[in-house]
Amino acid sequence: MPLAPELLKILVCPACKTPVFEADNALFCTNGDCRRRYTIQDEIPVLLVDESKILDSGDWLEAMRKKP
Ligand SMILES: [Zn+2]
Repeated sequence: MPLAPELLKILVCPACKTPVFEADNALFCTNGDCRRRYTIQDEIPVLLVDESKILDSGDWLEAMRKKP
């Protein structure tokens, strides 16, 4: 189930405070210098820097194409 739009609107990357968007059951930071991906577990976004993964540029650009 997708996250509630009202929730998504206020979510930002905890590392750089840039808005994130949802795709493939994960949240992606839209900052090209940060490029973090956060998982969503049981419909709860895990917005923790320590739990995030920094994508390489190629993977990040790929993810950005899924931005709504
Ligand atoms: Zn970020």
